[in-house]
Amino acid sequence: MQESGFCTECGKVKQNQKISFCNACYEVFRNDCQKVRSLLAENPKLTILDLVNVSGFSLQRVRQMIEYGALKIRE
Ligand SMILES: [Zn+2]
Repeated sequence: MQESGFCTECGKVKQNQKISFCNACYEVFRNDCQKVRSLLAENPKLTILDLVNVSGFSLQRVRQMIEYGALKIRE
C-alpha cells in the first residue's frame, strides 16, 4: 500500500495524495479560497501582494491557492 503522506498544515496523515492537506485542512483552505475569490470579484485588479495585504493570508497561502487553480490571477 502506498504512503499517502502528511498534511502540510497540521502534519496529520492525509488520505488524498493529490492535495497536500488532510480533509479538515482542505475544508479550511477552500473557505480561505472563497474569501480571496470574493475579494477578487470586488476588485479584479488586485495583485497577489494586494491580496496578501487585504485578506491577511500569507503570500505562501495565496500562492497555494493559485497552484491549486483556485485563483486566476496574473503574477
Ligand atoms: Zn491537516
